[in-house]
Formats: sequence, C-alpha cells, structure tokens
Amino acid sequence: MVQQERLLQTFFELVRIDSETTFETEIASALTLRWTELGLRVFEDDAPSKIKHTAGNLIINWDASSGCEAVTPIFFTSHFDTVVPGKGIQPRLDADGYIRSDGKTILGADDKAGLAAMIEAVQVIQEQGLPHGPIQFVLTVGEEAGLNGARVLDASLIHAKMGFALDSNGPVGDLIVAAPTQAKIKMEVYGRSAHAGVNPEAGISAIQVASKAISQMQLGRIDAETTANIGKFSGGGPTNIVCDYVEIDAEARSIRLERMQEVVEQMRSALLKTAETFQAQAKMTDEIMYPAYRLEESDHVVQIAERAVRQIGRIPQLLISGGGSDANVFNGKGIPTLNVGVGYEHIHTTKEQIPLTELVALTDFVLAVISQTVEA
Ligand SMILES: [Zn+2]
Repeated sequence: MVQQERLLQTFFELVRIDSETTFETEIASALTLRWTELGLRVFEDDAPSKIKHTAGNLIINWDASSGCEAVTPIFFTSHFDTVVPGKGIQPRLDADGYIRSDGKTILGADDKAGLAAMIEAVQVIQEQGLPHGPIQFVLTVGEEAGLNGARVLDASLIHAKMGFALDSNGPVGDLIVAAPTQAKIKMEVYGRSAHAGVNPEAGISAIQVASKAISQMQLGRIDAETTANIGKFSGGGPTNIVCDYVEIDAEARSIRLERMQEVVEQMRSALLKTAETFQAQAKMTDEIMYPAYRLEESDHVVQIAERAVRQIGRIPQLLISGGGSDANVFNGKGIPTLNVGVGYEHIHTTKEQIPLTELVALTDFVLAVISQTVEA
C-alpha cells in the first residue's frame, strides 16, 4: 500500500530544505503547505515568543473517519529541525539500498524520516479509505537545541491519550520504554593568582583544585541506569601565573530521578569539600533538562505498539535508552509517549544514513498503529 517512490520523493523534498536548529521558518512553511494540501488543519503555536527559534510547533488535527469517533485519540510526533552541518543537503539512494547525503552534510533522516512516514501514511489512508480514530501530528521545533519546542508546547493542545515519537535509532520495531532524566551542571572554581615562579605560595591554583575534585567524582557509567560526564574544562593562561579560575560543564543522567540527584549531590560535595581544603571558592548549579520516563509492558501505548510491530512482521524489542527525546517531555506532561526506532544510523554525523526499507517499514508501522487503535 505504501508507495515507495512517492515516500522517497517526500523524504528527499524535506531533507533538501535547510532547517538547522533555530532557523526553522522555511521547513515549517513547507510542512504547513504539505499538510494543508492533504486537507488537514495545521496550527502553529507561539513557541517563537518563548524560545529563540524562528518557527512554532505545528499541531495537526485529523478528525476520525466516520464511525471511528470513539476510538482512543493518539498522536505521532517528530521534530523538523536538524543538527549542523545541515545546509544544502544532497540526498541520494545508493545501490546498496541506503539513503545518504553527499558526505558534506548530515542527511537529516533525524527526524525527517518520521515526517515523511507520517505524510505517506496519511496519503495511503486517504487513498484506501481506511478507518482511523482521531489523530494528531505534533511536529516540533528546536528538538536538537534541547527539546525546546516540546518543552514550551502547551499540553492542553494535545487531546490524544497516548503518543508515538518517531525519533530513535535502532530498526523499526525497537520500542523505547524508558529513557533517563538529565541534569545539566555548571561548576566554577575561584582560586587566587600569583606569580608561579616568584611567589606561588600566595596563589591557589583553580586547576589543581578542580582536578582534585573531579578525581573524586563518580563519572562514566555509574550503574545500569545512571551515567555522568564532564564535557568541558576550561580556564588558565600563561604558565607563569597561578590559575585563578576554572569553569566546568558536566551532566548526569539516570532512569530514576532520585539516583540522578544522588550523583549530582556527590559531585557537589566533592567540589565544595575539595575547594574548602585548598581555601578556594567554588560553586555549582544544576538544572533538570527533562524528566525521565518509564512505561510498563501493560501500558496501552506499549501494547498497541507491540501489536503494530508484529503486524508488520517484526519482533518488538523493548529497550531502555541512554538519551532523552521529545518523548521524555510529553511523558512529563502526562501523556504516555513511546519513542520508537526509525532505522536511521550514525545520526549527527555526515555519515548519517537510513535504508529505504526502514523508511517503508516505518510508514507501515504508523499505519499498523492506526489500525491497531481502531481494532482495540
Ligand atoms: Zn531526533
């Protein structure tokens, strides 16, 4: 039922439109046009008044087909911004069945594969006159800049009872039932400068304090559900000056909020105690970027997805992710949302690729989810 050639053309059209995160006006207009041509109502929210992005989130409402008004309302979500380098993408289908860029840019299958699959699924349903319940398509802005669009999206605009985010690596059939919360951490160490050769006794090296503190922090994989990492360490100058300031960017993640908070507190304590020992000053701030989520196999959204995966002839894989996505944000807003494998590979690199067969399978999955909700 899926028209492979049309799906491929839709995907090519979408990835050819530049949409590096923050600059999403053109892609938002193109998507609005495309969905309007399909006869659906598109609403753009006021995200640009709250975040530094040039377009709002697009919310598309599709009424149930006649007789399916009582079917559980669902939504599908994908983001339409990309990482860099994402300007002038030249997509092509290689002989091995993979879609790739020319190697100078990313491909943008993250997450235009999701968008193309949704559009093709709607076309198939309209052509075949297939039954469907009330469906919303929530296309988000600014995901790559920190889930920004989803974070500022007014949850009252979503009437759906459950959601499917088409935005995970792994083949179609992978279902991400849990994903961690993340804290963004900033540490600062204030030492005291002095001449390093003449009078080092008068100085307090912020570099020495910071490195000693870091050596006492739990980092890397802490347990099966918890990780922490120092991403950036900066400070210092000429070697003849005792360094008086260091800045450190770090993160911590866990499937369990309390566990993540323990790790954050351990880092804070290592920093502050070490600073005290050296008579330096230090401070640390932390901010939760998004909540964790964990769905159970008994949850309706997981059951529908599992049945849909089987319907397309694959075996569902229930997995825990180490990364956050818009699904975290929607779950945090109280709407059970499952992130699912899209089939893209090597995202956020110029080697990004997706097999055409996965793009087709993703569309089949969207159609299967819709048919499963009608049957449920
Ligand atoms: Zn993505």
